[in-house]
Amino acid sequence: MLPTPERCCGCSACFAVCPKQAIKMKPDVEGFLQPVIDAALCVHCGLCEKVCPVLHPGSNRMPLSVYAVKDKDDDLRMKSSSGGVFTLLAREILKKGGIVYGAGWEKPAWRVVHKSAENEEELDDLRGSKYVQSDMGDTFRVVKKQLDSGRQVLFSGCPCQVAGLKLFLQKPYDNLLCADLICHGVPSPFVFDRCKNVIQANSAQSGEIKRISFRQKHAFGWKRFALSFAFANGSAYLQPLDQDPFLRGFLSELYSRLSCHECPFRELRSGSDITLADYWNVQQRFADMDDDKGVSLVLANSSTGLEWFNRSSSGYEALPSTYQHARDVNPSLWRSVAPSSRRGKFFCCFRAHPEQVQYLICACRRWPWWRTSGHWGKDRFRKCGVIR
Ligand SMILES: Cc1cc2nc3c(=O)[nH]c(=O)nc-3n(C[C@H](O)[C@H](O)[C@H](O)COP(=O)(O)OP(=O)(O)OC[C@H]3O[C@@H](n4cnc5c(N)ncnc54)[C@H](O)[C@@H]3O)c2cc1C
Ligand code: SF4
Ligand code: SF4
Ligand code: SF4
Repeated sequence: MLPTPERCCGCSACFAVCPKQAIKMKPDVEGFLQPVIDAALCVHCGLCEKVCPVLHPGSNRMPLSVYAVKDKDDDLRMKSSSGGVFTLLAREILKKGGIVYGAGWEKPAWRVVHKSAENEEELDDLRGSKYVQSDMGDTFRVVKKQLDSGRQVLFSGCPCQVAGLKLFLQKPYDNLLCADLICHGVPSPFVFDRCKNVIQANSAQSGEIKRISFRQKHAFGWKRFALSFAFANGSAYLQPLDQDPFLRGFLSELYSRLSCHECPFRELRSGSDITLADYWNVQQRFADMDDDKGVSLVLANSSTGLEWFNRSSSGYEALPSTYQHARDVNPSLWRSVAPSSRRGKFFCCFRAHPEQVQYLICACRRWPWWRTSGHWGKDRFRKCGVIR
């Protein structure tokens, strides 16, 4: 039996491996992709269970080395979420004629999907964290074909996606480099889509979206990053993490995937070669490195990961750190956070009134908020069923 929807992380390994195409990945009521089996097509071969990373979690590991790293190119660092290490690794792979897989945008819907990059222009789309679960589509099968043809591949994704890919492949490949992230969790694609629509509607004269960044650093710096939208007519939406409703709701644990609250891939259990993250509180340990443009925490977990990291060394400044410090500054490395007690209520109201998404986030984030918001807010929340 595949895991229940509460435990399934949506990696898509079961979908990719099914020899009868009996599995489809379909969004559940919260917008997270879940495998749905067509019983008429299933031949009970058991392959889907065999490759499921939730049913076969890896062991916890110690990294070979840990570093604080920043790209020497400040412009590139400003475009990246932390210190820009992903781009340096990707460029090394491209130089060797390889191909890079990561999370990018599907336009014009602005959905987050996994896709490939074979040149600098395509790489730009994969750069930067997207705080929405990416749709893997057919990526696992395509990656396998590339690997079998002998091509060097960098696969980058959340730890569950790396764990799913490794089980799907069923054997190690010398030409595969897997990079994952320290992963807090992934928010609901439906919720982001609605927030996006509200932002677009409020900027009705702005035309089509040109760019979305969840980690805009220019306005408020790396530590107080912002959600930004750039529109065709040159106008923009820009709010820091403590003011943008979507980021606030994400950080309040209102709408991450349920599996993220008991994630089985923490403590480097994904099997990745290298793990990238933000080196939060870098100012306490390496004050000279901190210019508020971003520093990466890099955990080299295998000799392959260390080798590729060393190959790109001309592009970065690095200082050795420790696993203990990584754990101290980044608790998502080893523990999941419980969901908000109002998560269920939020989704219940959101399903009934998706157009009210921003009000619902504000109401569910902090209970007494409506008390200070005046009658208009109170009426709205009462109508949506958030308050009585
Ligand atoms: C959902 C999510 C949660 C995260 N949680 C934490 C955390 O709790 N603590 C922490 O320190 N760091 C976290 N990170 C990682 C951090 O934000 C940076 O991505 C990481 O430091 C790498 O930054 P970079 O500057 O090297 O490269 P960047 O260019 O910023 O990294 C981009 C890479 O991230 C991948 N990526 C982006 N969005 C997604 C997505 N939705 N799904 C899968 N892969 C994606 C891309 O494929 C690309 O490889 C998270 C990232 C994501 C996407
Ligand atoms: S048991 Fe085999 S045929 Fe059935 S859904 Fe799983 S992989 Fe497909
Ligand atoms: S393989 Fe991935 S998508 Fe399929 S059931 Fe397991 S966790 Fe869910
Ligand atoms: S927290 Fe765990 S289950 Fe959730 S997306 Fe990240 S790796 Fe996957």
